[in-house]
Amino acid sequence: MNRLICSLCNKEYSLNEKIWKCDCEGLLDIDFKAKFPLEKIKTRQPNIWRYREAIPIDNDSNIVSFNEGFTPILEFVIEGRPVLIKQDHLFQTGSFKDRGASVLVSKIKELGIDYVIEDSSGNAGCAVSAYCAKAHIDCEIFVPQDIQESKLKQIKSYGAKVNKVSESREKTAELVLKYVQDQYYASHCWNPFFFQGTKTLAYEICEQLGWKAPDSIVLPVGNGSLLLGVFIGFNDLLKAGIIKKIPKIIAVQSKNCAPLYIAFKNKLDNVFPISKLNTIAEGISISNPVRGKQIIEAVKISKGDFIAVSENKIKTSLKEMYKKGFYIEPTSAVAIAGLKEYLHQLSKSELIVSVFTGHGLKK
Ligand SMILES: *Cc1c(COP(=O)(O)O)cnc(C)c1O
Ligand SMILES: [Zn+2]
Repeated sequence: MNRLICSLCNKEYSLNEKIWKCDCEGLLDIDFKAKFPLEKIKTRQPNIWRYREAIPIDNDSNIVSFNEGFTPILEFVIEGRPVLIKQDHLFQTGSFKDRGASVLVSKIKELGIDYVIEDSSGNAGCAVSAYCAKAHIDCEIFVPQDIQESKLKQIKSYGAKVNKVSESREKTAELVLKYVQDQYYASHCWNPFFFQGTKTLAYEICEQLGWKAPDSIVLPVGNGSLLLGVFIGFNDLLKAGIIKKIPKIIAVQSKNCAPLYIAFKNKLDNVFPISKLNTIAEGISISNPVRGKQIIEAVKISKGDFIAVSENKIKTSLKEMYKKGFYIEPTSAVAIAGLKEYLHQLSKSELIVSVFTGHGLKK
């Protein structure tokens, strides 16, 4: 318990080693016994750090926080049915990625690291840059050629060093992987501490439902920083005996870039890179997710499913949310388009939760 563990060779490391991958190049996961003293939790501030005993940071003095989290969960009527949507576009940097950045940058501070590297199509770069700025940690963010100007501007504003690569999102990630060897990679895909932050979404949903799990959760997925975090979070609660089952994870991709959906529907355990088409859901336009195998496994274990949605359906869902007064970014509308599809397939009634992942103001 309480260690880094390699997903390939099972080698173990202390949580305080300054590493982000195994000696064998494998992805690291975190084995950590999360505790939930419910009486204490309810007296604490409404942010992710109320789950203090579930987050693997040793000293409170290392916590880097903007009091993020405990976002509202609102009831919507979609296709004539009630569903709950977590308002995770309401974060300091405008996306749920602040959950992951808060925990990851806290750990970076705890490890005494003063320089990190990350690559991102936008929101993860914004989140890591903002938290690094708060912690006085230098960061270098690699971004692809097609990054949105607004997100690029936001990253630069926090004082991050930006390297714009004249390549695709995927090529940028490959390049960074070669470049980063000796430094600390604050990656929302590779670094396991990021998922120790995104998992708090599962905790908050359960607490807001009276410490109960929903029947299903509908999420957009690209690299899986949200999906894998949520899977870890529900499993923590299950192991602690707080919930009795984990919800079905309904993972939604854009049809124009759906490597996970394709692998799952073809009953493959591994994900193969695909050639993608343009999508307005640029936040999840990832053709070769590094944790693809883990994502498929998580969805399977949850007895969930994958759904792929067309550009037209994403656009329609986006407009519908605007008309209800919610200004979200197009990537967020993927989940809503998937949710509608899921509701069409569903025969009985279920307690369903989905998420608005990013704010429309930086679109
Ligand atoms: C990062 C992000 C997602 C989820 O993407 P993953 O790559 O699966 O973590 C969804 N929506 C928005 C707005 C995002 O920024
Ligand atoms: Zn290994």
